[in-house]
Amino acid sequence: MSSTATTSNIPRITILGSLNTDLVAYVPHHPLPGETLTATSFMTSPGGKGANQAVACAKLSRPRSLSSPSAHVSMVGAVGSDSNGDMLLHNLQTHGVDSSLVTKLPNQKTGIAMIVVEAETGQNRIIISGEANHSVGEEYVTAGGWLEKTDLLIMQLEVPMGTVVRAVGEAKARGVDVLLNPAPARVLPEGVYRGLKHLVVNETEAAILGGVEERELDTMEGLERVGRMFLEKGVENFIATLGGRGVFYLTREGGEEKRGLVEAERGVRVVDTTGAGDTFVGRYALDAVRARKEGEGGEGGRFDIEGAVRRANKAAAVTVQREGAAASIPWRDEVE
Ligand code: ATP
Repeated sequence: MSSTATTSNIPRITILGSLNTDLVAYVPHHPLPGETLTATSFMTSPGGKGANQAVACAKLSRPRSLSSPSAHVSMVGAVGSDSNGDMLLHNLQTHGVDSSLVTKLPNQKTGIAMIVVEAETGQNRIIISGEANHSVGEEYVTAGGWLEKTDLLIMQLEVPMGTVVRAVGEAKARGVDVLLNPAPARVLPEGVYRGLKHLVVNETEAAILGGVEERELDTMEGLERVGRMFLEKGVENFIATLGGRGVFYLTREGGEEKRGLVEAERGVRVVDTTGAGDTFVGRYALDAVRARKEGEGGEGGRFDIEGAVRRANKAAAVTVQREGAAASIPWRDEVE
């Protein structure tokens, strides 16, 4: 069977975002200023928040055999005309992501992320050189008519802000749901929030976008206060991933506020947190798009946000126990 299902009545998720080659060094501790360290190991692997979230959606939508996906997943973005670009396209295809809307740009390099992972804690530090991702302009939003065929659009901030803002507007005009994972964190134009069905942030992103100190998010009251701020700006579902603390959610369905803190899975041995947030987004998105599709079909389709957060939290806990980004994301049969 083809690796990209095209069944018309399954939900369609499109990810508009970045593709990077990850250069990952594992080190005993993060280097101090001026310090030269010897890595304990090194690997080159496919990455980029956009591509990782596309792979997360695809892997978590089906078992390893690539049969019966619960969603059609496609990616919109750009790579350079180099071997890294070929590797990233191949990575999407082997995981069942439709890559026909990823452009290979002549005379450009593929994006790079330099990642340093501390062995003791699994914590990472990352430097990105966007390269071809910088060329993903507003024209990518309308070219090819892909938005008309999308039920849920997922974006991050590793492509130009103007493109993200345009895509939110175009999606809203067409009634397409949008999930924004604003990483790396940058203050957003206020109007963007009204177009967001789902805002998924980690603690740093919540603090920067919300204009608060990160320590405000240490308490449930602080999380509620920040979450409400985003709801008032127009977001429907606010999710904050809190690393080893778990996940906070806040929503207002039918005027009634619902909130909760889902604790992180216990007994988890953290090896490498790279891709944990992306895994969370992928699993959460599959529930979100299914609820939307069922709603269209008149089958109720009420979004069980707590269930979606629990399942995503469980999937992300698998990712932190493995090395790498795309490779560490579990298939559906590994979490269910
Ligand atoms: P990254 O950028 O490294 O992918 P992130 O900063 O976007 O991650 P985090 O909030 O660190 O996202 O982690 C995402 C989710 O991964 C958490 O909400 C949780 O579900 C899971 N997770 C992270 N750390 C742990 C841990 N120590 N134990 C269990 N689950 C974890």
